[in-house]
Amino acid sequence: MGSLPLELFRPLDPESLSKEFMAVVDFIADYYREVELFPVSSPVNPGYLRQLLPAAASTFSEPIGAVLDDIKSCILPGLTHWQSPNFFGYFPATASTAGLLGEILCGGLNVVGFSWVASPAVTELETIVMDWMARLLELPAAFLSPGDCGFGGGGVIHGSTCEAVVCTLAAARDRALSRPGSRGRIDRLTVYASDQTHFTVQKAAKLVGIPPANFRVIPTSAASGYGLTAGGVRSAMAADSANGFEPVYLCGTVGTTAVGAVDPLPELGEVATEFGVWFHVDAAYAGSACIFPEFRGYLAGVVKADSFSMNPHKWLLSNMDCCCLWVQSSAALVDSLSTKPEILRNVVDYKDWQIALSRRFRALKLWVVMRKIGAANLMEHIRSDVAMAKHFERLVEMDSRFEVSAERRFALVCFRLKPTAGGGADVNRRLLEAVNGSGRAFMTHAVVGGEFVLRFAVGATLTELRHVEAAWRLIQEKAGELLMMIRLENRDDGDGNESNDHGIH
Ligand SMILES: *Cc1c(COP(=O)(O)O)cnc(C)c1O
Repeated sequence: MGSLPLELFRPLDPESLSKEFMAVVDFIADYYREVELFPVSSPVNPGYLRQLLPAAASTFSEPIGAVLDDIKSCILPGLTHWQSPNFFGYFPATASTAGLLGEILCGGLNVVGFSWVASPAVTELETIVMDWMARLLELPAAFLSPGDCGFGGGGVIHGSTCEAVVCTLAAARDRALSRPGSRGRIDRLTVYASDQTHFTVQKAAKLVGIPPANFRVIPTSAASGYGLTAGGVRSAMAADSANGFEPVYLCGTVGTTAVGAVDPLPELGEVATEFGVWFHVDAAYAGSACIFPEFRGYLAGVVKADSFSMNPHKWLLSNMDCCCLWVQSSAALVDSLSTKPEILRNVVDYKDWQIALSRRFRALKLWVVMRKIGAANLMEHIRSDVAMAKHFERLVEMDSRFEVSAERRFALVCFRLKPTAGGGADVNRRLLEAVNGSGRAFMTHAVVGGEFVLRFAVGATLTELRHVEAAWRLIQEKAGELLMMIRLENRDDGDGNESNDHGIH
């Protein structure tokens, strides 16, 4: 009882695929047409969805139309619309027609290319597109694949920076522990990052078994633009070495998450060489910008890095997920991640460059993006996002109640209401709530140098200058209302202090 006649249950029927596929594609196209009108962040309460959906899976087949109806009525209201042109939070997750088509092709072919032989084109295309991307970034030749024979450098596509950091840390750990003179004790290995480094590095260190107490967080300051200094890293490593620790891994960042700071790679590379540590460069966000000549300078010094990663799914129009990782010595990575004896490794088996065995055909997506969009348009996309961010920065600077909080390098502007605007300590948090609560724009925040700052990250694919300008007008309007309300609150409190009001507009 309950099963369909066999001839009706055809889960991969090409005829119905075409029809149902069109319905889904039309649904997505309509979504992009309307997404601007939705409140950017969702107003729902936790648990909202359980009240709307049945407690158990469907017994019988339902038409795709019924599913799409439920997506419209139940799911869309619970989304933060990352593709909204009014989305300025976190870093963008840029989508494109090319990226989506690539994802569809990847899902459609649905092959599993863990080894060369499991699907030769999966491995070979990945090697080729990673070389293409390396050339676009003008990475040193040491990161390119060595060709047909041998192990040199090369690239691999992971799902996230987190995975890339776990794998490179594992390689660094094993390289250090097997080195002559090593005491072979994982509890003596130390890892170095800054207080601006993404928390994923700390998580990865825990995952590969390095005690959290051995994770060195080196403080940064406004004076160094929130970047690491070589001196700070060198003295931390020297102190650890003198105390019987073995420095093993240093992470430098190009474009930190909080404010977009850039660590000085050439100097850090020298320190890494001095102490024999693995040097990883995380450019998850800003790496995409480095295809643009103006920004390539930030990668000067990457030649001293053992590994380099960036996420095209953040800012290079390659739908989730896509993290490019390059290493100078793939042997170090494979030594750590492979279970095969060395003599059996005669081709690239990407399973030995990552955590999982199974892997998606992500290279297909990146290939479609690079072909269908083309390098010139990719550069133009970066240029125009940065130009819009510059415009927003100028608007902030023109309003004397506000200040820019850290140097803008890419398309992220960090700013806040000045203390002299008269709103009190909490004013920027309240401003963020007011802006996001309106549904008309969405931003996030960071705490740097002890200050709560607003982050305005331009780059959602559909964002145009008019959206940036409308968001700024909204911020000004909410700031005006908030400051007025705070003045009234203070008056009601009876302190009547209006002396900090003057000269602010
Ligand atoms: C976003 C980001 C990450 C995390 O990337 P995932 O791919 O989500 O793991 C790491 N580092 C920096 C600098 C980032 O901006």
